[in-house]
Amino acid sequence: MAYLIPPEQLGSLLDGHPTYRSNQLREWLYEHPVLDAADMMNLPLDVRTKLGTSLWPFTVDAEQVGDAGKTRKWLFRGDKDAAIEAVLMGYPKRVTLCLSSQAGCAMGCTFCATGQFGFERQLEAGEIVAQVAYAQAHLQTYPLPDSPNRISNIVFMGMGEPLANYSNVREALRRMIDVMHIGARHITVSTVGIVPGIRKLADEPWQVGLALSLHAADDELRETLVPINRRYPIGDLIDACAYYFEKKGRRVSLEWTMMEGTNDTPEQAAKLADIARELRAHVNVINLNPTPLGPDRPSDMLTVEDFIADLRSRGVAATFRETRGQDIDAACGQLRALRFGDVPAELTIQSITKTQ
Ligand code: SAH
Ligand code: SF4
Repeated sequence: MAYLIPPEQLGSLLDGHPTYRSNQLREWLYEHPVLDAADMMNLPLDVRTKLGTSLWPFTVDAEQVGDAGKTRKWLFRGDKDAAIEAVLMGYPKRVTLCLSSQAGCAMGCTFCATGQFGFERQLEAGEIVAQVAYAQAHLQTYPLPDSPNRISNIVFMGMGEPLANYSNVREALRRMIDVMHIGARHITVSTVGIVPGIRKLADEPWQVGLALSLHAADDELRETLVPINRRYPIGDLIDACAYYFEKKGRRVSLEWTMMEGTNDTPEQAAKLADIARELRAHVNVINLNPTPLGPDRPSDMLTVEDFIADLRSRGVAATFRETRGQDIDAACGQLRALRFGDVPAELTIQSITKTQ
């Protein structure tokens, strides 16, 4: 469970060994992660053997490949059965990891598969950061087609609400930035809108990006989609995002998932444009990925195009984000833990080596 120990305290795993060994171990865990502790070449055999059985704080229950090999999804299972997912997406000039911050989510957004299945437990900092290390080690061993072999971007857009697990997310960010040397500007925390968390993150020393999952531009509609809006209404969110912008000098992005007949109307576009202009925010539009229990349907593509054109005509920078991983249920909002036994045999851990 080396990732569950803060990187500065790794000496506790190395009783009887000189202190420089803990630096070596830290480098293996955070800077050049490997899938198997046996490959930590400069460490003594007894240390490698001891680490070997418990290197990762989770087991890898399933691994899937989609988008012609450019997307990978893992189902990790941690202690007490908690299942979480992470998705790696390769592009020509970058590799993005979408990771989970909680097992499940308590926010209950109607259109989100994670929300529909409720909250299991908080993830520890080490469990969050180990998703990055595991994906990096995997990428090194099995490169993605036509993409760099280093994770360049991290988005907290998997399972869970990161700002409802603040202290662990904070420590995970610290390790990513200070120990793994991932640029803070390449990390984006996505939130449903936990106002105190946005303000705390604004006060942290890192230039981390913030994405606000808005989805509705007035409280009446937003309350029906995002229950936590009753606690933190849009006016308070705008103030918190303005504070973030002021502290970081970084524009917040607004996430907008299109739902047919619900939030894809010209009225919503007009109200959204007002908010985006006020915050000087960029709007990321994506179409709904259908979920098993959600009542909403995706908008048709013509409506999506009109909506974006409408925002642009009102002076707002808006882009359409292609969904990745729809063929493996890894698209936004579809990250939902499979139960034991639900994983088809062809999607087990070995499948990736066969497909590449
Ligand atoms: N809890 C955080 C981060 C995880 S959700 C948040 O809500 O921001 C990551 C993103 O996926 C959010 O923008 C969320 O609104 C979006 N999302 C959730 N369900 C979706 C779905 N079914 N289709 C498309 N996007 C969805
Ligand atoms: Fe939780 Fe985000 Fe899903 Fe809402 S959209 S239920 S906050 S993971």
